[in-house]
Amino acid sequence: MRFLVVDDFDTMLRIIKNTLNDLGYTDVITARHGEQAFQILTKEKIDFIISDWNMPVMTGIELLRKVKGTPALAKIPFLMVTAEAEKEHIVEAIQAKVDQYIIKPFNQEMLAQKINQALHKIGKA
Ligand SMILES: [Mg+2]
Repeated sequence: MRFLVVDDFDTMLRIIKNTLNDLGYTDVITARHGEQAFQILTKEKIDFIISDWNMPVMTGIELLRKVKGTPALAKIPFLMVTAEAEKEHIVEAIQAKVDQYIIKPFNQEMLAQKINQALHKIGKA
C-alpha cells in the first residue's frame, strides 16, 4: 500500500505520516499542494490519498475533482481533511465523491479510525 499525503503544513504531514507508520504503513509519499500531488499520481502507483482542503496552487477539492474525473485514478480512496470552520465544505466534498473525511482538530486515534474505515471499504484491511 502506497499512500500519498497532501498538505501545505509540515506539522500536519508529519502527524499523518506518523499515524500511518503506527498502523504499519511505511510507504508514504508527500506533496505540498494539489498540483504536485496530481503530477505524482500520473507517475507513481498510489493506493490511497489523504489530502488537506486549503492549500496554495491547487486546493484539495480541486484535486479531488481531478482525481475522480480521471478514470485511471477515480477508484483510489480519497480521505479529505478539512478545518472546523469549513464544515459546509463537507457537502461539496461528498458531491465530488470523497470516500472519507475528517475534521480538524483530530487526534491520531480518530485519524487511524478513518483510514481503517476507508481501507475496510475497499477490502484492504
Ligand atoms: Mg492547509
